Amino acid sequence: MIDKRRELVLRELGLLPLWVPRGRARSAQSGVATGTRDTPSTPVVGVQAEHARNERILRADWTELKQMVRTCTDCPLHAGRKQSVFGVGDERADWLFVGEGPGAEEDARGEPFVGQAGRLLDNMLASIGLKRGQDVYIANVIKCRPPGNRTPEPLEASRCEPYLQRQVQLIEPKLIIALGKTAASNLLHTEASIASLRGRLHDFRGTPLIVTYHPAYLLRNLIDKAKAWEDLCYARETMAGLKAGRAVLN
Ligand code: URA
Repeated sequence: MIDKRRELVLRELGLLPLWVPRGRARSAQSGVATGTRDTPSTPVVGVQAEHARNERILRADWTELKQMVRTCTDCPLHAGRKQSVFGVGDERADWLFVGEGPGAEEDARGEPFVGQAGRLLDNMLASIGLKRGQDVYIANVIKCRPPGNRTPEPLEASRCEPYLQRQVQLIEPKLIIALGKTAASNLLHTEASIASLRGRLHDFRGTPLIVTYHPAYLLRNLIDKAKAWEDLCYARETMAGLKAGRAVLN
């Protein structure tokens, strides 16, 4: 059974249907696809290649992972980038902040959150005693700038997903903060609103995760800054509990 989001991504990649026609399973297993008029042959090979790519990413060390992201051409966004934006900070940080994707300034400088939203993020960090690079790592759902800073397409986000997953595995943060709807929906695989996701603890593959507003949204919606402040206080308390080995409750 494949969920809706995965189905959408696979469809965009031209990888559906996933089933293997009876009697041709053996050729599919050997990676040799033999099509007929009514059953396209590429899907099984495509799924296997995708799987192998993800496996490679999930085995990479920091050096290999940075190189893979730097040279990635696996979705259309690579064509419009000046450079990919890998992530920045303490590679053993307890705190991992995840945004959406690079904007123009990030694309030019190769570092996440260096524009106006980045300055607000730095202030948000400072408000709970944190500083970029000191026990803090900052990354994005996607590593290349979408044209006109639009929201990433499901295909683009899914291609970048193993990169972020590997970053989380290597950092081993105690707590992830998802900044905004794109980060929350891609990390948690949900379409729920930020309002409904705030104020409780979620789980990203075994790591506790808290959702708050994206700094760029807060620049346009000053009224919600108070809610973001509540979320940061909740995150600070949660981290204290995690460090003390206390059970963290929703
Ligand atoms: N917005 C993001 O989500 N990430 C950045 O790196 C910059 C702006």
